[in-house]
Amino acid sequence: MTMATRVRFAPSPTGRIHIGNARTAVLNWLFARKTGGEFLLRLDDTDTARSTEAFARGIEEDLTWLGLQPDTVFRQSDRLARYDEAADQLRAAGRLYACYETPDELERKRKRQLARGLPPVYDRSALELSAEERASLEAEGRRPHWRFLLDDRRVEWDDHIRGHQSFAFDSLSDPVLVRHDGSYLYTLPSVVDDIDKSVTHVIRGEDHVTNTAVQIQLFEALGAKAPEFAHHSLLLGAEGQGLSKRTGALSIESLREAGIEPMAIVTLAAMLGTSETVQPHADMAELVASFDLAKLSRAPVRFDEAELKALNARLIHGLPYRAVADRLATLGVGGGEPFWLAVRGNLATVAEAADWWRVVTGPVEPDIDEPDFIAEAARLLPHEPWGADTWRDWTNGVKAATGRKGKALFMPLRRAITGLDHGPELAGLLPLIGRDRVLERLGSKQ
Ligand code: GLU
Repeated sequence: MTMATRVRFAPSPTGRIHIGNARTAVLNWLFARKTGGEFLLRLDDTDTARSTEAFARGIEEDLTWLGLQPDTVFRQSDRLARYDEAADQLRAAGRLYACYETPDELERKRKRQLARGLPPVYDRSALELSAEERASLEAEGRRPHWRFLLDDRRVEWDDHIRGHQSFAFDSLSDPVLVRHDGSYLYTLPSVVDDIDKSVTHVIRGEDHVTNTAVQIQLFEALGAKAPEFAHHSLLLGAEGQGLSKRTGALSIESLREAGIEPMAIVTLAAMLGTSETVQPHADMAELVASFDLAKLSRAPVRFDEAELKALNARLIHGLPYRAVADRLATLGVGGGEPFWLAVRGNLATVAEAADWWRVVTGPVEPDIDEPDFIAEAARLLPHEPWGADTWRDWTNGVKAATGRKGKALFMPLRRAITGLDHGPELAGLLPLIGRDRVLERLGSKQ
């Protein structure tokens, strides 16, 4: 029997999620669905000064909106007792040791090492402290921070995206796991959670590769088997700059407010970094079907908001009425399916349908340059009932009577009826506007 897969997305609730970490969530979610496994949401909220309940709720809301509902949600602040146990286990094994240096003292050590041309690696002098020396430092009021004693063997793993990895620790200091106030840095809690929750695959950004090497040693020191790892490359902005969590404009919340559809975000996030052509996908099942971590390249990927907007528009152009009916009703847009089919090809966002609905219902400011031509066209306007052929029948009649064709025929009519020189095919809009309103706009109110 193969073991069920279990993955987790682990944001810190110190901000909302942005396109970069949404991509991590998408890759984890797709992996879980593809392998019939589970997708956990872990809130990394051990930094109590910066984590807020509002951000935690916001992250859950963003994931739900994206269609990436987690199977389970848990938070690290509920699990401190387990981290204490794990820290004790490491202390008992001689892998977690107390250090008393102040930040200033550490900085001076670093400078001395650099001046001597040595890598600025912690010298482990705290390991040499006798019990008396420790007691006297504590009597001075110093509280220890705790470092993990790295094993200097290389750590190797087969990364699902980066291939075989072999990591040497010679230029890495023993990492601090517990701060002097007893709070935990991210490194240990993450490993304890991955063990306790039976996480099978850790899929995260390549900024965590060094953490992975350290964490593999931690899994082993805690007597557990490390999960498998996949480190995806990071997103760069369109100009090649890094995307920081604080670039608010790229938060999922702001993209949503800007009218971007969740499927556009999820589709782009799933396809960036693969060699596949970015194209709209109607639903998640299609994305799951084509998903494979092995398709992701190791190279950094550019995220271009213009590409997202273009994908969003293409997606909207193909959305069936039933997918938007509720939202159109909320926007006060009527006209049912005929209206939606008439305008969707002109929309960059679903909300823009309201602008075209106002063009249907009026009032509009007719734009008439050639009153004689418009008056002639008004006389030729067919009687109701109107349907899909009315526009063609009418303009054929006007063409025959006036000799006009092409732009000279259509543009003055469009400008008179809609007040605009661009827009959806009038064949679709005309029956919705109706004969009375068209006549009124042509200046021939009966
Ligand atoms: N809270 C960490 C982050 O957002 C989680 C990394 C991980 O997936 O382990 O970078």
